[in-house]
Amino acid sequence: MEPDPSSNGIRRRGVMLVLSSPSGAGKSTIARNLLEKVPGFELSVSVTTRPRRGSEIEGVHYHFKSQREFEILRDNDELLEWAEVHGNLYGTPRKPVEVAIAEGRDMLFDIDWQGAAQLRDKMRGDLVSIFVLPPSMRELLARLKRRAEDPENVIETRLSNARLEIEQWRDYDYVIINDDLNRAFESVRAIVTAERLRRDRRPGLFDFVAQLLEEKPQ
Ligand code: 5GP
Repeated sequence: MEPDPSSNGIRRRGVMLVLSSPSGAGKSTIARNLLEKVPGFELSVSVTTRPRRGSEIEGVHYHFKSQREFEILRDNDELLEWAEVHGNLYGTPRKPVEVAIAEGRDMLFDIDWQGAAQLRDKMRGDLVSIFVLPPSMRELLARLKRRAEDPENVIETRLSNARLEIEQWRDYDYVIINDDLNRAFESVRAIVTAERLRRDRRPGLFDFVAQLLEEKPQ
């Protein structure tokens, strides 16, 4: 994978970036842009019991599991967090995240507020959380309908859950109102750039500065 050029080759811990929002607020598009345009990010692929949508690919968007398979993973402590969302189970596989942190790679989590709360407890300083708000509830409903990949009753559940989800905004480090997709994405990019440069994420700076001070120019 392409390295993050802003690190100057200095060793640092990975950024664990959580993006949450009610369904339809544009989070998935922002996430896709981030993975395509910001070098060095990879997606944490969740497991879910939700039926696969036509456009989704097993292992790319989700690992699709039966209820029983999900429960086995959960009971064997193979999930870093899990939650029931809109009547289906979703969870983050533990192993890939632990490997990424150890290797200093950045990871994106497209998970809901319940999952974000669990990761906040477990990962503390490694975690950066962004909440994406829709510009209005009317726009949110329009986007859910436009997607048209879910049956009507599912759209209704998602809209009523949206209010509960939005109420969690205060627990996030950053909040973005998505009235313009490009602008929202540029805000996420700026957050990533800044977070990668945080001093406490870059243990490699100690060696760099020590060498810098030893240098005797001319
Ligand atoms: P969808 O069914 O539209 O793909 O996702 C529904 C909701 O579940 C979204 O808010 C998404 O962020 C959330 N979600 C997806 N994967 C996970 C996960 O692994 N854990 C948690 N807690 N939520 C997830």
